[in-house]
Amino acid sequence: MSQEESPDKIDRKKEREKLKEDPRDFEHRLHNAKMSFLNYMARKVLPGGFWSGNRLQPGESAYKQDDATANSDTNQTTLDGNGKIRLHLTFDDGPDPGSTPALLNLLAEKGVIATFFFIGANAKKHTSLVKEVQKAGQIIGNHSMNHLFLPVQTSKKIESEIDEANQVLEEITGERPSLFRPPFGLIDRRGAELLAARRMSPVYWGAVADDWQYIGEEAVTRRILKQLPREELIVLHEGPHLGKQTVNAAALLIDRCLELGFSFDSI
Ligand SMILES: [Zn+2]
Repeated sequence: MSQEESPDKIDRKKEREKLKEDPRDFEHRLHNAKMSFLNYMARKVLPGGFWSGNRLQPGESAYKQDDATANSDTNQTTLDGNGKIRLHLTFDDGPDPGSTPALLNLLAEKGVIATFFFIGANAKKHTSLVKEVQKAGQIIGNHSMNHLFLPVQTSKKIESEIDEANQVLEEITGERPSLFRPPFGLIDRRGAELLAARRMSPVYWGAVADDWQYIGEEAVTRRILKQLPREELIVLHEGPHLGKQTVNAAALLIDRCLELGFSFDSI
């Protein structure tokens, strides 16, 4: 038996094929087609930012003021030191007592580093959860103070949405976040310039599952897996209305991704 035919390799191949060719998946495929189109458009029109690949160096901003191709530059598959495709796992909208502690346990158990994009107002309510995330060595990013749709806000309001959340998070952790995920994934040039002035980077997303509503962990996992490894930046959502969906989906996803030979890394 050659190296390629070892049971481990055959299983992985089967897994990949299963993911590609599940005939029950019409609805998920439709979702993914919609998301690829939206991502494609967003990469064309949004200010430069981090989509996937090219891990940011500490203090480095992915935002390039006058470079219209900044987005496409940062969209390349990257490999870790062992030649594995590197994924980035992110959680938005927390902290939430119903999911954040369980996510921390899961990440510790699996040895995975993820990024939590916290809403300032939630962080203010659950300061001990923010501290726990920091203590666990997970990354904390800014997801604005009140989760407003920023492109329709005044410049002053956009500024306070970024700065208030930074302040809340810095008061709790002693560290100012360098990553910003815009609410609804949308930010305009004014927002991007405010971030650049603060040496912060906008972080968008690649693989997304509409999991801000309850669709069940199986659907979340299936939708995300089908977008991999074309997309490397995965977003899942926390929230009291989601029950155990986030934690269960994260567990399924991490296991399956590790089985498929992917690795996880910070942004
Ligand atoms: Zn959000």
